[in-house]
Amino acid sequence: MASSSHNQDRTDDSHGDGLQPLDISVAFPQATPASIFPPPVSDYYQFDDLLNAEERTLRKKVREVMEKEVAPIMAGYWEKAEFPFHVIPKLAGLGVAGGTIKGYGCPGLSITGSAMAAAEIARVDASCSTFVLVHSSLAMLTIALCGSEEQKQKYLPSLAQFHTVACWALTEPDYGSDASSLKTTATKVTGGWLLDGQKRWIGNSTFADVLVVFARNTSTNQINGFIVKKSSPGLKATKIENKIGLRIVQNGDIVLRKVFVPDEDRLSGVSSFQDTNKVLAVSRIMVAWQPIGISMGVFDICHRYLRERKQFGAPLAAFQLNQEKLVRMLGNIQAMLLVGWRLCKLYESGNLTPGRASLGKAWNSLKARETVSLGRELLGGNGILADFLVAKAFCDLEPIYTYEGTYDINSLVTAREITGIASFKPAVLGKASRL
Ligand SMILES: Cc1cc2nc3c(=O)[nH]c(=O)nc-3n(C[C@H](O)[C@H](O)[C@H](O)COP(=O)(O)OP(=O)(O)OC[C@H]3O[C@@H](n4cnc5c(N)ncnc54)[C@H](O)[C@@H]3O)c2cc1C
Repeated sequence: MASSSHNQDRTDDSHGDGLQPLDISVAFPQATPASIFPPPVSDYYQFDDLLNAEERTLRKKVREVMEKEVAPIMAGYWEKAEFPFHVIPKLAGLGVAGGTIKGYGCPGLSITGSAMAAAEIARVDASCSTFVLVHSSLAMLTIALCGSEEQKQKYLPSLAQFHTVACWALTEPDYGSDASSLKTTATKVTGGWLLDGQKRWIGNSTFADVLVVFARNTSTNQINGFIVKKSSPGLKATKIENKIGLRIVQNGDIVLRKVFVPDEDRLSGVSSFQDTNKVLAVSRIMVAWQPIGISMGVFDICHRYLRERKQFGAPLAAFQLNQEKLVRMLGNIQAMLLVGWRLCKLYESGNLTPGRASLGKAWNSLKARETVSLGRELLGGNGILADFLVAKAFCDLEPIYTYEGTYDINSLVTAREITGIASFKPAVLGKASRL
């Protein structure tokens, strides 16, 4: 049952979210909404046993901050599709930006610790975890893996503290799954490069201070990487409106018109599209952990909800059909956790191949789709309200199923590895066009 302290949490507007006060006890008489996050019960096979002391401590810290600082405000910001900038210092305090990167003010976490943190952030809010992953596992990691010593020293310390925010711009309006065909150009001029083209879907790009941009070198025809500063003349990022998922994440359409990038800001470690795979191999591990976190949050909410709400004189948890759904969700989560954990261990032992990373991302997002869908059913009408997390998580999972390679593309990456046959491009384009 909702208590008066619940009401207080949403009526005092102490988080400055500008929302109208809501009397929760009237709106939700029989169940507690996600602004008061439930205790974790989804870790049924005690995954904590597989973590070391440092990783366990980090997990607990991330969980506490997310439940306390983000859970009370997330539905409101999601509804408004706005980013809660006042949360950035709280996320900075977690010490997770930069993940596994050592030095340059970065935390040098184990890959498992870093992935677990991503999941714990996603458990409460998937948008926050995407914000961190784009900044850390895509942009910062590209600078760490492909940048010069000077670039690492110049950019990473402030990014690690979230004093500056980064984005990672690969996708273009005409090249999504087919990103290696991208058309944005980089032309050599005295002292630097001129970038011309468009990017689409770029997370954090409407406010990012630092943009990692991929463009085709007009001399070599290869993909190169560049660090572009927010204030560069000719650069414009416009927010993509009307998204149905990850609404807190600010995705942008970027236009680059003769944007000058000095030589010192070219990433010398990116000389072809293959170099982006070094980054994607790691970031796909992180993305594989987002569906785990989202599913854990949904399960925890459902578990509480089914015991709180009654129909036909009994708690919803007493109905066998509901129990089976709950157990199916729980089973999915245990399996997803073990897949995520093996990805980390394969990475640590140097045995993570692109196919293995892709299978983890594809399969976890597939299982999470089933899990959040079951959760949505279990909550009945409240399953379509962002206030109970599940509807929001249901929507947030859709872009995760699609980004960092869609389910299909990641499946094809794995299939190429195990069969030796690449099937990305239709073999007989000419014949197909006559059908
Ligand atoms: C919320 C969100 C955030 C994002 N953030 C970023 C970001 O920060 N930076 C960035 O660079 N990009 C980002 N992206 C872009 C994302 O990576 C692309 O959306 C994704 O790669 C798919 O490309 P597309 O949307 O153009 O779909 P398309 O490539 O047009 O695909 C459409 C459908 O066709 C299928 N398909 C395509 N090719 C094949 C094939 N060869 N075989 C079988 N099926 C195929 C796909 O699986 C999909 O089902 C983001 C996207 C979203 C939605």
